[in-house]
Amino acid sequence: MTNTIDFLATPLHEIYGSNCFSDAEMRARLPKSIYNELKAVQDGEKPLTLAVAEVVASAMKDWAIDKGATHYTHWFQPLTGSTAEKHDSFISPLPDGRVMMEFSGKELIKGEPDASSFPSGGLRATFEARGYTAWDTTSPAFVREDDSGVTLCIPTAFVSYNGEALDKKVPLLRSMDALNVQTLRVLRALGVSASKVTPSVGPEQEYFLIKRDLYEKRPDLMLSGRTLFGAMPPKGQEMDDHYFGSIKEPAAAFMKELNFELWKLGISAKTQHNEVAPNQFELAPIFDTANVATDRNQLVMASLEKIAARHGLVALLHEKPFAGVNGSGKHNNWSLSTDTGFNLLEPGESPHENAQFLLFLSAVIKAVDIYAPLLRATASNSGNDHRLGANEAPPAIISIFLGEQLESILENLSNGKVVETAAGEKLEIGKTSLPDLPKDLTDRNRTSPFAFTGNKFEFRMVPSSGSVAGPNTAINTAVAEVLSGFADILEKADDKNAAIAKIVKETYKAHKRVIFNGNGYSDEWVVEAKKRGLPNIKSTIEAIPVYSGDSSVELFCKHGVFSREELESRVEIYLEKYNMQINIEAKIMVEMAEKQIYSAVSKYTMQLSDTVIKAKQAVPEFNVNAFQNTLCKISVNVNRMMENVEELKLLIEEAGSEKDVEKASLVYREKVFPKMGELRLYGDAIESIIPREDWPFPNYEDLLFSL
Ligand code: ADP
Ligand code: MG
Repeated sequence: MTNTIDFLATPLHEIYGSNCFSDAEMRARLPKSIYNELKAVQDGEKPLTLAVAEVVASAMKDWAIDKGATHYTHWFQPLTGSTAEKHDSFISPLPDGRVMMEFSGKELIKGEPDASSFPSGGLRATFEARGYTAWDTTSPAFVREDDSGVTLCIPTAFVSYNGEALDKKVPLLRSMDALNVQTLRVLRALGVSASKVTPSVGPEQEYFLIKRDLYEKRPDLMLSGRTLFGAMPPKGQEMDDHYFGSIKEPAAAFMKELNFELWKLGISAKTQHNEVAPNQFELAPIFDTANVATDRNQLVMASLEKIAARHGLVALLHEKPFAGVNGSGKHNNWSLSTDTGFNLLEPGESPHENAQFLLFLSAVIKAVDIYAPLLRATASNSGNDHRLGANEAPPAIISIFLGEQLESILENLSNGKVVETAAGEKLEIGKTSLPDLPKDLTDRNRTSPFAFTGNKFEFRMVPSSGSVAGPNTAINTAVAEVLSGFADILEKADDKNAAIAKIVKETYKAHKRVIFNGNGYSDEWVVEAKKRGLPNIKSTIEAIPVYSGDSSVELFCKHGVFSREELESRVEIYLEKYNMQINIEAKIMVEMAEKQIYSAVSKYTMQLSDTVIKAKQAVPEFNVNAFQNTLCKISVNVNRMMENVEELKLLIEEAGSEKDVEKASLVYREKVFPKMGELRLYGDAIESIIPREDWPFPNYEDLLFSL
């Protein structure tokens, strides 16, 4: 269903949020008492009752039917990383042959998808393949329009019958609770009135756009999301300026519709061309509370794919679709806001706000230093292995960029030197004000994986294709843990300002090793970071087990975010996912090499050999050296390629026969993956010999510069 977009016929303010069962919509459609009850449920003050759910369900159904909906679905996020749903229709047959449209409170609250098809990492024994979905009252329901019709989608959590999390939402919600509890303790100790604190998140999404007809000629892109073969275009051309600048027509039409669709869902987004790679784009939404932002980022990814298809395009969400070309990530902007409207990471103006800011800033610094391996784990997948710690930045080392001014303030405070206030007096925490921190100064360093950008932190390691639930669950819990320690001190302190000053000073001293304002892409940083004792976890298979390591288990269990079993199940599922991905990639390479490349080579070899013979026949003194040299080059490369294919097949078998998931992942990472790299070299060498028209796939130039 393509939408004709006519803002004259329907003004944007009427379209905006029209497909979202927003707060305003609920206020308009629900009796006041029910609306207030629901608000209390959303704020965690009251449990949800069936009576309230009944009324909300009925209003939600009426609203959805007004939008043309015939079905509803519990929309959830299993551990596959994408979203899943189970559709049911509103239709309830009557004895007289007519139907009624029904949707009960029970159906709103709870659903029972066939859980056996989703990974549980052993949490659900197969004979007990049941799990259920539960309505997340804090994330707005929405309607989705597509060729199959209009569907009411209800964001839900997905849990086993024992209450264990089978999804990414449950732990995220639990981590938000933990963070709320600990932050409120700190605020209360400081005499600040607030009754709720939520992490706010704005995930910036990077992606590539390519033409669909070209994509469909690349089995590697279609089945694995990235090109497994592909020679770089001639040097200098790939970054040519004239490919940038204005957004080309097909992409512009796509973006217009994308904006329109997202606006209807109440997601405000700004799309722009990315300056780093051709055909790469970035979408920055307005931030939301962490769980809503997570849901919406899933919707953004789904919309990118769906709408691209309508325009004969494909949106590639993979972290590294093209070797040698800048990859894609997600910049997870994170901050903490109170229900009274304060951003706790905003330096503020008064001495009191400044003190509070330094305290929360210190909490993040400490949390990131202590739990760096965990944060690294949340940013790992097979795609990100091509970016983090590989030849391309960002590095796999977690460090924080603060900006020179902020760093020097903390440095001076920590060693007793005088820090000047804006007015040129001596800074005393809680009594005089910090100098102004210019915002542009704080956002200059793009090489830092965890950058302070004026009033929020930006975690830039997050994989472009992944959910932001994991990274935010980790940040929330790690910061909650540090704040619980701060609260212990502050609750007992008589002089709060002195206590804050002491915490800020000591935290900086103990954790300043994680602060780095320099070039995170440089080789010197890797050496320096090692000296500082910062972890440099290079691959997914080393990172994933951190989830179930002692430090993570202790952290998450203490704050009720994950049980040990839930963490162990995740390690298994994520490693399994890694293994599957490499397995698919390796098999596709074999297939492409054996079938398509091999056959193109033999055809071209035949042609060239004919040329040699015929040229000689026609002109006996014709010098055929050049042709023969080419044939020799082909011969060397095609033989090495086919040898590597055979070797790769054996390694795939070896990995596949390994029953233990961790051991199998080691074979995939240490044997299969490097062999794929070797095989690619020969395939790419052949590609650069064979004429373009005889190559069986669209090449990098076609793919990257086609729009
Ligand atoms: P830039 O990083 O280009 O300077 P902005 O700072 O305006 O741009 O925002 C970048 C992203 O950070 C946006 O997605 C925005 O919604 C998000 N963001 C802005 N403020 C916050 C905040 N307080 N908490 C979380 N995300 C935020
Ligand atoms: Mg940014």
